[in-house]
Amino acid sequence: MKIGKKEDLQALREKCAMYESWLRALDEHGKFDLWFKDKDSQYRYVNKHFANTMGRTKAELVERTPEDVFGADRAERVRIMDRKVMNDGLLQRVVPCDESGALEVHEENRFVVNDEQGNPVGLGCLAFETTEKSMAEEALAQAQQMAQLGNWRWSVRDKCLISCSEQFANILGVSFTQAFSTMQNRADKIIHPDDRQLVREVDNRKGEIGFGGYDIEYRILLSDGVERHVREIAEPLMGNDGTPVEYAGTLQDITDKKTTEIELLRARDELELRVEERTADLQHMANHDVLTGTLNRTAFVKQIEVRLAESGDLKAAFIVLDLDGFKNVNDCYGHAAGDLLLQIVAERLKQRMDGRTLVSRLGGDEFGICIISTEIDAAGAKQICEDIERTLAAKIKLGSCEVFVGCSFGIFMIENSTTPIAEAYKSADIALYRAKKSTTQTIMQFEDKMAEEAAYRHKLEQDLRKAVNEGSLGVAFQPQVVVQGEQLVGFEALARWQHPEFGAIRPDLFIQIAEQTGLINELGKQVLDRACLETAKLNRSFDKSFRISVNLSSRQFDDHKLVDYIANACRTHSISPDMLELEVTENLFLNNSDQTKATLDAIRELGARVALDDFGTGYSSLGYLRRFEIDRIKLDRSFIKDVNWSASDQRIVRGIISLAQSLNISTIAEGVETDQQREFLEECACDEIQGFYYGVPSSADVLTDLMSKGGERYAIHHLPDVLAV
Ligand code: C2E
Ligand code: MG
Ligand code: MG
Repeated sequence: MKIGKKEDLQALREKCAMYESWLRALDEHGKFDLWFKDKDSQYRYVNKHFANTMGRTKAELVERTPEDVFGADRAERVRIMDRKVMNDGLLQRVVPCDESGALEVHEENRFVVNDEQGNPVGLGCLAFETTEKSMAEEALAQAQQMAQLGNWRWSVRDKCLISCSEQFANILGVSFTQAFSTMQNRADKIIHPDDRQLVREVDNRKGEIGFGGYDIEYRILLSDGVERHVREIAEPLMGNDGTPVEYAGTLQDITDKKTTEIELLRARDELELRVEERTADLQHMANHDVLTGTLNRTAFVKQIEVRLAESGDLKAAFIVLDLDGFKNVNDCYGHAAGDLLLQIVAERLKQRMDGRTLVSRLGGDEFGICIISTEIDAAGAKQICEDIERTLAAKIKLGSCEVFVGCSFGIFMIENSTTPIAEAYKSADIALYRAKKSTTQTIMQFEDKMAEEAAYRHKLEQDLRKAVNEGSLGVAFQPQVVVQGEQLVGFEALARWQHPEFGAIRPDLFIQIAEQTGLINELGKQVLDRACLETAKLNRSFDKSFRISVNLSSRQFDDHKLVDYIANACRTHSISPDMLELEVTENLFLNNSDQTKATLDAIRELGARVALDDFGTGYSSLGYLRRFEIDRIKLDRSFIKDVNWSASDQRIVRGIISLAQSLNISTIAEGVETDQQREFLEECACDEIQGFYYGVPSSADVLTDLMSKGGERYAIHHLPDVLAV
């Protein structure tokens, strides 16, 4: 403004007076703070409201420096702020009214004051008290509280906090005003020692061009020692020259999230550990026999394969061991005792083993032992079997009882690593089978010819199944004659099998196969039915009532329908049950079971008789004869064979007959071939005779033919001359 003419001066005066009256009115009534400072931060004008706010008079403020008004410490901050305004041109912020941190705040607008030429001459400030926050602010604060998130602004040049939200201070665990000082060199004050480096680096780089925004997580330590996890996200605000002047960001309390994360990680680790343990358990279970803890068959075979493949020059002895009479232990003492026996045997086997040996329970009472070594040979393998045999021979205590265990061994020598282990097992098993059958040897090494025998046996098994299914087995009848008067009283029915390729198969062989394969039930049923059918025909043809003896295998007693089909056969073919005799062998009584007794009682209740076959060769005792109420004893052929010249056989035969007589049990001698034998038996008062002397087993047709020609006497004396079946 230029001072010129008088009228201009007058007009200027009037204008000034008007400005002054406005200023006075503002000073008087303004509900806001207003001040102006010069470039040196000295107050040049303050309004009354500001003086009140500061608790001073106007005179105490005007022309005073920040040091005069606030003291050195705060003055420094005031000057920083003023410089910032001079620099940036404008600053808007919300600040607390006093240092107490009370909720009353000022909304400040600081600005640069320029002269007419636009040069900065100072700064001004207009501040409103906002004791009542706006609805939006309230909502924002609430949202921040809920999100546990605070916001802040930071001056790059002055390295201090410019503004922050209340929630920001809350997260730091300080009052709103304390937040400003806390953030000064914050790394040393509030940051967890382990995270200080990270925070320092970020704070130091805040002015760098190209540093840009950041997103970090760190921990803070509150004054009470509580640790909080926070996430800080910030973006730079660029000045006119493209360098960052401020950073605006958020701070979020993520302690809960972190704790959950840590708990989740811990839970996952725990779970992983458990899964690992469980997997190890499952793996152990998958590879081991549950009862004995030895390798199971699959793992055993696999481990042998792996070891042989690893070292091509290794040899191995594959041994299969089977306990003798294990079934008896199960039958006599129960399955728990059987299990215990297997565990003890497995333990004794394991104790004997060294690093080159694998042990497995292959199933049932069968164990596998494989010695893998470059030195092992057949003699060495046999030696090991003998050692094991000795180890197992020591008596074994099963609860209150004691047992002695015998065993048999089959050995197969694996000479090169390409031998399939399944083949080795099969061959060792064949050798074992031979050892079990042998009466002199318990250890057998596999030889090629054994495989042929095994193949033959396997073929017989297949073909027998076919024959039983087709019902093509035959039945032969052998006469049974009363000694006194040589009268034909009945026949023994004996199964016959005419193999299409190999001809007649020995009954003791195919009966054994039938027993092992379970075919015996069906086979026995067919023989019984055929025997009753043919006997009924003979009875009708010759108006007789012949007795028919049918062999029953011990295994048939497992069939709970046995008594039913015996009754059924009698009914169907009109055979009076008291003319049916069932021959059982002594091994039936081995387990002395109530079940056996009940079945025998039921058979006798039908009216049928029970004969004890091959008497004297098994385990018969007087006790059994009484308990099971046997009707007839069949003296075994082995006593009759040499009875005319063996004094001991004579004593035995006499003894058995007098024993039977004392028990009121009738006797029949088997295998009588000569007149001398017959005479001796007559002298001993044996009741009946069966043997080639009176007739070989023959078909029902041959018998009918002979009897038609010359009657019973003719038939029994001419049977040896005809072709036996
Ligand atoms: P087993 O029940 O003791 O039958 C008597 C065996 O002695 C018969 O042999 C018979 O042919 C033979 N034999 C009879 N008299 C004489 C003789 O004077 N001298 C000689 N050397 N032998 C004589 P086979 O028919 O070979 O039967 C053998 C065994 O097979 C039978 O012995 C019996 O245990 C069994 N068996 C036969 N058929 C059946 C059947 O249908 N069921 C069952 N479970 N076993 C049967
Ligand atoms: Mg018999
Ligand atoms: Mg017999």
